[in-house]
Amino acid sequence: MSNCPFFGTCKWMGRYSANGGARVNHLINNYCKGSYLRKCVRKKVAEKLGGREFIPDNMQPDGKPAKGTSDSEWSDEVKEIVRQMVEPQSVKN
Ligand code: SF4
Repeated sequence: MSNCPFFGTCKWMGRYSANGGARVNHLINNYCKGSYLRKCVRKKVAEKLGGREFIPDNMQPDGKPAKGTSDSEWSDEVKEIVRQMVEPQSVKN
């Protein structure tokens, strides 16, 4: 399984991977390097809204806000994409 093409430039990775602990490593191993790669909600947001600039920095690949953050500043369009994707596909943490 190859890594995500955005592995080196993903803002969530850049901001949260260094100090995220086991929970973040679990997400990286499952989504960014693993079998859930095609299910990354960040990638889906970029695809549906037309660019990576629409992805909230604090959105995890499973569509949840990073630990200690919230989705309060996410657009309604982003929240709708999350709502459509997250429940059946999120990885248990
Ligand atoms: S979070 Fe998503 S977009 Fe970012 S590196 Fe992982 S799979 Fe790619």
